[in-house]
Amino acid sequence: METSQKIDHKLVYIILAVTIILFLTPAGYAENLREKFIVAIDIGHTKNCGGALSAHGLDEYYYNQKVAFLLLPELIKSGFKKSFIINEDGSDISLMGRTMEAKNRKADLLISIHHDSVLPCYLSKWNYQGESLYYCDLYKGFCILVSDDNVTSKNNILFARLLGAELLNRGFSPTLHHAEPIKGANRKLIDPEKGIYEFNKLAILRTATMPALLLECGIIKNRGEEKSINSDYRNRLVNAIVAAIGQYHEKPRP
Ligand SMILES: [Zn+2]
Repeated sequence: METSQKIDHKLVYIILAVTIILFLTPAGYAENLREKFIVAIDIGHTKNCGGALSAHGLDEYYYNQKVAFLLLPELIKSGFKKSFIINEDGSDISLMGRTMEAKNRKADLLISIHHDSVLPCYLSKWNYQGESLYYCDLYKGFCILVSDDNVTSKNNILFARLLGAELLNRGFSPTLHHAEPIKGANRKLIDPEKGIYEFNKLAILRTATMPALLLECGIIKNRGEEKSINSDYRNRLVNAIVAAIGQYHEKPRP
């Protein structure tokens, strides 16, 4: 009896020691903090309303979902274990419904994943596999949309700058076509180098109660860019997002 009690005590001490080491070493402490930080990944659009139609005839939703499904396991692997995808099955949902879900699930950060298009005046027609489709090869690149008009605006911009920098580091370049001085564009650029635009009226950004941004991963109306999106582009992009979230999480925030 006494021997088994001694063993029990020993076991308790060992568990305690391991727990203390895990929590107090810098790596264990950081890991523990990451676990508590929740990232909500929003897949732009739905199965029924697929967003922009690509130059090769695929819905934007298809591309958004691919990025989200690649991003979530990478975030979990890097320690953000409670991260989740909003509306994972692609069913119909309002924009408010998306931000409500992020709030209800206590997200600390929201990233909405989209792929970009261009104004109709830039589109040309072509035939692809017997289908008549629209394309525009004039513009390519990513851009980041943020609200600088709500309580989280400073953190929105902080996160956007970190993401823009990480994308540039990996060889991506921003598209500035949304800032052109024509009707339908004319968006204010907050940081042209990093492709960051102000978009205060966008519902998903306006109604988010946590820092948020919308990433247009690339322009799927551009035939070449759409092809490259289907190569290693997506992996590099996801690496940039994970790195930016890691940095955002560690930075002292306003
Ligand atoms: Zn979209």
